[in-house]
Amino acid sequence: MADITYKNKINRIRTFALSLIFIGFGIMYIGLLVKKVEWLMLIFIILGMIAIVFSTVVYFWIGLLSTRAVPIICPTCEKPTKMLGRVDACMHCKQPLTLDKSLEGKEFDESYNSKRS
Ligand SMILES: [Zn+2]
Repeated sequence: MADITYKNKINRIRTFALSLIFIGFGIMYIGLLVKKVEWLMLIFIILGMIAIVFSTVVYFWIGLLSTRAVPIICPTCEKPTKMLGRVDACMHCKQPLTLDKSLEGKEFDESYNSKRS
C-alpha cells in the first residue's frame, strides 16, 4: 500500500483538505441516517461541520503557505511549480527538487527539511 512516489507538499495538503470535506459530508450523511436518535444525529452533524470548518482552515493555511513557497520552473518538465522547504517535488512530474546545492544529486529524503546542517 505504501506510496513511494513523492508528492508536492502543497498538492498533498490540498488533497487532504478536499478529503476532509468529503469526510465531513459523509459524517453528516450518517447523521441523517440516524435521525430517529436525535442526540446521535446532532453529534454526527456537529462532527461533520467540524471536519468541514477544519478543511476551510486547511485551505486558508495552504493560501498562507503558497505565499511563502518558492516559485520555480521545473528543470525536467519546464512547467512552473512551487516548492516548500529545502526539498519538495514538482507539482506536475513529481521530480524531486532542492533549493540546497549541497543536497543536489543526493538521494531524495524528506528528513532534509527538518535537519539543520
Ligand atoms: Zn516537473
